[in-house]
Amino acid sequence: MKVGFIGLGTMGAYMAANLSKYLESSNHGLVVHDVRREAAEPFIAKGAAWAASPRALAEACDVVFLSLPGPKEVEAVATTADTGLLGGLKPGAAVFDLSTNAPSMVRKIAALFGEKGCHFLDAPVSGGPAGARSGRLAIWVGGDKASFDEHKVFLDAFSDQARYIGAIGAGSVAKLVHNCAGYAIQTALAEVFTMGVKGGVEPLALWEAVRTGAVGRSRTFDRLVDQFLQNKYEPPAFALKLALKDMTLATDLGRELGVPMRLSNLAYTDMVEAMGRGWEGQDSRSAMKLQIERAGVEIAVDPERIKAALERDPPTTGDPKRS
Ligand code: NAD
Repeated sequence: MKVGFIGLGTMGAYMAANLSKYLESSNHGLVVHDVRREAAEPFIAKGAAWAASPRALAEACDVVFLSLPGPKEVEAVATTADTGLLGGLKPGAAVFDLSTNAPSMVRKIAALFGEKGCHFLDAPVSGGPAGARSGRLAIWVGGDKASFDEHKVFLDAFSDQARYIGAIGAGSVAKLVHNCAGYAIQTALAEVFTMGVKGGVEPLALWEAVRTGAVGRSRTFDRLVDQFLQNKYEPPAFALKLALKDMTLATDLGRELGVPMRLSNLAYTDMVEAMGRGWEGQDSRSAMKLQIERAGVEIAVDPERIKAALERDPPTTGDPKRS
């Protein structure tokens, strides 16, 4: 079998690297494409074939994975006349979209693919770059169940939690629920933590204390380690502009369904404001700097002190670096 991978960025490069190890060991071939050809070079150097367009890749492959910024790019790669996947796929071929996409977009693309006897499945991932690298990664799949079953062996090559959720769009809805929860929690944490620091408690002492409480024992506060506590938002683990795309999709879905989402819209507004500050390429947690500013406090804990605190009380559930 020939397996295609399009989008070799922060997440895609790690997932494709893990997939390629499996493909090598099982005598399958890898074909790659990205608008930045340089992103594909390490794969080509290890024997992967290069495809000059998504269509050329589709002509050569039985199954294709996409890890692209968002709906606009996925639609272009999938359906653009002459160069898109749709013109090149064989009947029965399957495309798994690992990007975080809009449920309405994946349903529209899946319908077009269905007319050609092909399958388009939404398969967004969760685990951040650390999870993509280690393979501790969740994948939530929506679409044709038989295609999922047939190709699960490939998903298992770069994920320890590939799960079928339901019809096309179900994976994207699950992903938006997950990410929206994360950013609403982030907004709440920035609020209470700046209150605590302004109330006179030293940031690391405060963080070590709340981690041991009832909420803390579920390790909610561990998400503050890499960026907020250190005041370090570059390089991005997950860029603000991509996170804003996710929150736009999630709050749009809420509006579409008539669901009031008070905190989520507040989190969304902070992220829009952070974009206006020119932080689009910083990590998505940079939106928390706005609350630090509003509260009039300074939080910048020495990473060595954080490391020592984590040695005293190690993370017990999950990895604080995962997002
Ligand atoms: P990224 O910007 O690092 O990677 C995107 C890749 O797609 C780049 O290599 C880019 O050159 C390529 N690309 C863009 N347009 C293209 C096109 N038209 N044709 C071919 N290639 C194209 O982004 P990322 O952080 O790897 O995220 C990828 C997807 O995964 C996004 O949908 C994001 O929301 C989702 N995601 C990211 C994280 C994270 O922590 N970074 C976690 C979970 C999910």
